[in-house]
Amino acid sequence: TNHPYCNPYRRNFPLLAENPLIYLDSAATAQKPACVLQAEREFYERYNANPMRGFYALSVEATERVEEARKAVRRFLNAPPEGEVIFTRNTTESLNLVAYSYGLSRLKAGDEIVVSIMEHHSNLLPWQMVARQTGARLKFLECGADGRITQERLNEAFSERTKLVAVAHVSNVLGCENPVARIAAMAKERGAVLVVDAAQSAPHMPVDVQALGADFLAFSGHKLMGPMGIGVLYGRRELLEEMPPFLTGGEMIDSVTRTGAVFAPVPYKFEAGTVNAAGAWGLKEAIRYLEAVGFEAVHRQELALTTMALEGLRQIPHVKVLGSEKAEEHCGILTFTVDGVHPHDVSAILDADGIAVRAGNHCAQPLFDFLKVNAATRASIYFYNTQEEIAALLRSVAGIRRKMGYGE
Ligand code: PMP
Repeated sequence: TNHPYCNPYRRNFPLLAENPLIYLDSAATAQKPACVLQAEREFYERYNANPMRGFYALSVEATERVEEARKAVRRFLNAPPEGEVIFTRNTTESLNLVAYSYGLSRLKAGDEIVVSIMEHHSNLLPWQMVARQTGARLKFLECGADGRITQERLNEAFSERTKLVAVAHVSNVLGCENPVARIAAMAKERGAVLVVDAAQSAPHMPVDVQALGADFLAFSGHKLMGPMGIGVLYGRRELLEEMPPFLTGGEMIDSVTRTGAVFAPVPYKFEAGTVNAAGAWGLKEAIRYLEAVGFEAVHRQELALTTMALEGLRQIPHVKVLGSEKAEEHCGILTFTVDGVHPHDVSAILDADGIAVRAGNHCAQPLFDFLKVNAATRASIYFYNTQEEIAALLRSVAGIRRKMGYGE
């Protein structure tokens, strides 16, 4: 049809269905399909009780919803039997759990932690903290301007002292996919553990913890259309069992005396306090919906739109797109600058045209320093976006310099 937002998926999203908003900030958080909103509501309407605590029927039902969600996440990640899924609030909390629990208890002075230069602050600050507190050294894995991590860079970053490697599967700025399986092999050779930040990959591509060789892997529910406040940490059971708890208190113990406690088994040892059961139930539905759409369809739609956006942006004078020249190496993420115009002005002008994008340094300041770019604007595409929306983005960006008072 000629409807401007004709996309078979768009109508599944209440916020988008009735709204002309051009939402190009899905890398920050994805919109929610009606079925996810319905699932979260269903939990409170039908199953609401404190899970893990009571022995009455309703509490058992609530517990079952959490465990069903855990199973769905396990399958989604292709977790092996010797791996476990822990529910957290978000990627940030998952990564902090690994840093505070594994990092502080297992690393020591002289050890090396490798992080890539393109890490989101959530996968950098926890490791800076571990380095400061243990005397371990933080080493940066460098990339090219297109985000490429070469074997040479890998060889430079790794040493016999490497004990932990923390890397994004997909960059939230460049959209590039990192060679995680290769990094995993190098980590394994040195007996180092690998922590993967899958916040930007899990919504777009199958994430297989076994194929990636991840010891730990984190993602956020809200970026793959689930509710906010539910996140996942996958970890190898063998490591998790040896680790001290991160947060302590209720729900994570077997027994407590005046002076001590016996902790519950993994994964409960790491789920202190009441878990976000409704969020977990909503996340399970988001995974079901995403898999029903299918990663192939998601990829096809994103690639078509990304190709159109990248080619269009490249033709606008004074506009530069960060990262690879190839649309298939962007994972729907287009971060760009407009010469002489601050990204805050860029996003304000786009906002006036009804287009939502993100501006700033995108929680990845070391990458911006490396690229010698102060800040940039990020348009991020998901499969519910349309060609008409990309056309509107390109029209709006093409008019920015003139609106700011520049001639041609
Ligand atoms: N890592 C990456 C690569 C991200 O893009 C984000 C979200 N911007 C995060 C971590 C943090 O996610 P959250 O805010 O959900 O904890």
